[in-house]
Amino acid sequence: MDELTCISCGAYIKVGGGNVKFPCPECDSIIVRCQRCRKLGRKYTCQCGFSGP
Ligand SMILES: [Zn+2]
Ligand SMILES: [Zn+2]
Repeated sequence: MDELTCISCGAYIKVGGGNVKFPCPECDSIIVRCQRCRKLGRKYTCQCGFSGP
């Protein structure tokens, strides 16, 4: 399964081409961000409450 949803905007994305997937620094759950939200510098909030740029 390579289809994921961006944590900031909820869009379906595929990892690669500017889209990223990384573990939360706090709880290690997977965070997915799309290219657009990264460009716009949108904040994300993890399910554990951690938020980052
Ligand atoms: Zn997004
Ligand atoms: Zn977390």
